[in-house]
Parts: sequence; structure tokens; C-alpha cells
Amino acid sequence: MKKIAIVTPCFNEEENIGPFFDRLSKVLARHDQYAFQLILVNDGSSDGTFPAIEKLSKQQKWVKGINFTRNFGKEAALTAGLNHAGGDAVIFIDADLQHPPEVIDDFIHAWEHGAEVVLGRRISRDTDTKAYRFLASIFYRLHNRISDVKLPENVGDFRLIDRKVADHLRSMPENCRFMKGMFAWVGYAPQFVEYEVEERFGGKSSFNKWRSWNLALEGITSFSTAPLRVWTYIGTGVLLVGLLYSALIIVRALMYGIQTPGYVTLLTAMVIFGGVQLIGLGILGEYIGRIYIEAKRRPPYLIKEMVQQETPPVAHLDGHSPYGKEQDAR
Ligand code: UDP
Ligand code: MG
Repeated sequence: MKKIAIVTPCFNEEENIGPFFDRLSKVLARHDQYAFQLILVNDGSSDGTFPAIEKLSKQQKWVKGINFTRNFGKEAALTAGLNHAGGDAVIFIDADLQHPPEVIDDFIHAWEHGAEVVLGRRISRDTDTKAYRFLASIFYRLHNRISDVKLPENVGDFRLIDRKVADHLRSMPENCRFMKGMFAWVGYAPQFVEYEVEERFGGKSSFNKWRSWNLALEGITSFSTAPLRVWTYIGTGVLLVGLLYSALIIVRALMYGIQTPGYVTLLTAMVIFGGVQLIGLGILGEYIGRIYIEAKRRPPYLIKEMVQQETPPVAHLDGHSPYGKEQDAR
């Protein structure tokens, strides 16, 4: 029997866990040729998310709960879920029902027909504002132009990956984990399944503008060094213009003597180049900061406790399966 693990990051999703589980298990019940495991990662929620997960794992053998010591972010939660998921395929899905569980039917179908990576592509982003969509499209265009790894547009973290891909991802040791980029970096031609994003069932989104901006920065700095290299060219360009301009001033001084006015030219040049240098330094800083974090070799997350009815051995280390024999999903 093939095994499929489902990984769901949860941050303040108390009211969503139950409805999410009900809708998901209805979908999975249609696929009784597989054994499923649901891994719910509580990413340091401040509400009753973990008690809800705990309760569920007591009732359902196939549900495993992972509790972080604090909020480590969605990327860390996805990583933890992936590291604890056994199985022949792993599906990532949000807890807020914005990713309709019914789409999993198509994911499994595509996987059975040979796709190692199946990506959910949003048909419309009506749930986002126009400005956000505009900025997002600029990000994708910029990212794809300057980095070797191309990110498909309108694709989030809703996806299925085959065990091969999961194993590659588990072997990637970095701390700064921009999962969307890492998924793409691994390769394998993806197959797309379109879906309509739904409204959040309950609670509210935790990705504000600032967090999205930082994720975008993480994406660019993790997968491209173009922002660093571009300074060589900017520097060269500025130097050439500067040399030409100096030559002009020197010739003029030799021919007409020194003209004192020049205050405006001087000050403008100082202010502009001061700004340009600071931006260059800032970009260097972005990378150095990430080298610093990476160099400390800290784990991307810490687990306080795990809940599951029985604690089975990890899959494919010793041949045992982490999945219960019978399934009480249905
Ligand atoms: N999430 C998480 N840790 C965080 C923020 C979010 O695990 O620090 C989870 C959240 O519970 C949800 C998913 O990531 O399952 C997507 O988050 P959200 O719905 O807030 O983002 P949006 O859908 O608005 O982009
Ligand atoms: Mg959401």
C-alpha cells in the first residue's frame, strides 16, 4: 500500500483545525487504496491550536502533532513537517481552507500518472488587493530574471512532491529556508493543477505587507547573487562618467581659469553618491546578515513535544512504517 503524508503548518488556526480536518478526511476517504498520515505543525500559536491538534491526534491514529517551542515561521513549519513525513509522496496544504482539499484528487491523479511534482496554480487572486498583485508580479519577474531558479507565478505552497523530491529537500542543509525557491531549485518538471483560492475559513492571515516583503527579499538573496554583482557595473559606470566629467572640468579650468561657482554640482554629486553607496552597503548587509545566520548552524526550528497515539519508528530507516495498520479516517 502506498503512503501519502500531508503536512499542514498551523499558526493561530484554532477555529480552522476541525473544519479543515473534516473536509480533508472526506476527500481522503475517496482514496482508500492509500495509507495517509496527517502532520499538523503548531508554529508557536498563541491560541488553542495545539490543544485542538492534541485532541485530534488522540482520536485519530493517523494524525501526528508537532509543537514548536515558539513561532519559527511558515517556512520552518513546512520544513519540520517534511522532515517528519514518511511515505511515497508528501502534500503541503494550509490549515485555513484557502487551499481546497478536493484538489488533492487531481494531485494524486497526476502523481499516479508519473508527475514527481504537482503544483497547485491559483486561477484568480481575488482575495488579494490590486496593489499586492502588482507587487507580486514585479517580484516574480525580477526574481526570474536575475536568478537561475525560475519560480512559476501564482503558485503557492499547495503542492504534492514525490518521495524522491522530498529526499532531495531533506538533504538541503540551509537555515534560511525559502521553500518556494528550494522546491524549484531541486528541479523535476512540475505538472500544474489549477484551483480557485477560497476565502479564509476563520481567523486572519498572518502575512502582512512587511512579512511578505521580507519573504521576497529572502527569495532573491537566497537564489541570486545578481544584486551583489550589479555593484561592479554600477561602480564602473559611475567611474567612467566621473572621469569624463573631471576631464571636462580640468580642460575648462585650463582654458578659462577657475570659476568658483560649483557649489550646486558638488553638493548634488555628494548627496547622490552618498545615497548610492549606502544602498550598495545595505545590499551587502543583506547577504552578510544571511551568512551570519547561516554560519551559526542553528536548527531552523525547535520542537517542544510531539503527539501521536503510538510513536512508531521513522519510515524507511528500518523498514517499519509510521502509519497505523488500520485507518480510522473514515
Ligand atoms: N503559518 C505558519 N506560521 C506563520 C504564519 C503562517 O505556520 O508564522 C501557516 C498558517 O497557519 C497557514 C499558512 O501558514 O496554514 C498560510 O498562512 P496565512 O493563511 O496566514 O497566509 P496567507 O494565506 O494569507 O498567505
Ligand atoms: Mg491563508
